Amino acid sequence: MSGRYLIRTFGCQMNEHDSERIAGLLESDGYVRAEDAAQAQVVVFNTCAVRENADNRLYGNLGHLRPLKQANPRLRIVVAGCLAQKDQGQIQERAPWVDVVVGTHALPGLLELLRRAEAEGPQMDVREFTEVFPSALPARREVAHHAWVSIAMGCDNHCTFCIVPLVRGPQLSREIGDVLAEVKGLARRGVVEVTLLGQNVNTYGRDLTVPGSSRKPLFATLLRAVNHVDGIRRIRFTSPHPHDFTPDVVEAMAECDKVCEHIHFPLQSGSDRILRAMQRSYRSERYLSWLDRIRDAIPGVAVTTDIIVGFPGETEEDFGGTLDVVRAARFDQAFTFQYSPRPGTPAGTMPDQIPKQVVQDRFDRLVGLQESISLESMRATVGRTFEVLVEGVGRKGGVQGRTRTNKVVHLPGTIAPGTFLDARIVDAHPHHLNGKVIRVAESAAAGSSREPAAAH
Ligand code: SF4
Repeated sequence: MSGRYLIRTFGCQMNEHDSERIAGLLESDGYVRAEDAAQAQVVVFNTCAVRENADNRLYGNLGHLRPLKQANPRLRIVVAGCLAQKDQGQIQERAPWVDVVVGTHALPGLLELLRRAEAEGPQMDVREFTEVFPSALPARREVAHHAWVSIAMGCDNHCTFCIVPLVRGPQLSREIGDVLAEVKGLARRGVVEVTLLGQNVNTYGRDLTVPGSSRKPLFATLLRAVNHVDGIRRIRFTSPHPHDFTPDVVEAMAECDKVCEHIHFPLQSGSDRILRAMQRSYRSERYLSWLDRIRDAIPGVAVTTDIIVGFPGETEEDFGGTLDVVRAARFDQAFTFQYSPRPGTPAGTMPDQIPKQVVQDRFDRLVGLQESISLESMRATVGRTFEVLVEGVGRKGGVQGRTRTNKVVHLPGTIAPGTFLDARIVDAHPHHLNGKVIRVAESAAAGSSREPAAAH
């Protein structure tokens, strides 16, 4: 056994899954998880460059570890993820007690870097590209019934507020057979729900070729193939890009009984002028027409989104355009962000950065509007019965689970994670529902998977 490890993860689902891979790699080498840094022989910070103040948080965390490193020179400190890729050599300059800096494409070599750090001192691998999708990495899944499944890395778009293309490189899709082999293996181990992960799932397969065929494996093909995997009962994915959305994906979503009735469809802004400045190559009218098509094809589908407020140059009129689209789109939930410049992005140096108090005021108005729409959408579920997959203990006792439409449901009692049940909704709040258990399924792997828009 090599000792204990601790991973601290910052950022998005992509990072959460990378942390599962880091944990899988370390455990394949005999490490076991530590409860805190004082017990650990390896501490990994899996960083995110997207979040505000990411670097301050990282260097603050590294500063806290310095006394531990001084007391125990055999402690190995690793910085991984997007900030490692972006800051590279600066990390060990600012925090020389860091042993390994490993970029987003170099993750498979982490164990070797740790061995070399032991023998030779600090190591860094921040290679720019990888030609082969690192699918063979083991992963330590955080829960037994759900798994993230990576289908592509990187992104070919260049949204001006986003650091991802800089730190994760161009899109690299994973072979469809490789994705399916992972999903089948997960199903054999009791996973019933998978979330397919990519920066822009709609362009999945654009960079792949199938031997003997001129057709590219596309996202719709992948959805249909995963839908055939026995044992999987729910399929989710994140995120599609409105510009690259295609009718065959809507058809596949409507046709595949395991694909959940939920789509996360990032709007970012309702102003065409701002969308242009963001280099988001759809316009608000097209966005709304896609929503109509999706809702027509998939009854009861829930739609969530991301919106940025206060992008450089955003006028009150532009912001009004966002409010108009929010009113028209009637999102079930929206993840709202106050724009703040990210070093290294084109928007970070644009003129007309918006004063903080203006951004805050617009943000508050947007959140107020969206909360009232979310509450209406949640109230419409009261008295109806939904299939819920239990995720674990609720924050206020009882358990918490999700409907296929991705609505969080709190339930009383003690029920094992991974259990499917039918719950009647008794009470609604903007971000969660309270339910009553009507029927617990006899087996997590049995039963039909398509939830009627409303069972009752
Ligand atoms: S689509 Fe835009 S926001 Fe999304 S990862 Fe690519 S560049 Fe970033």
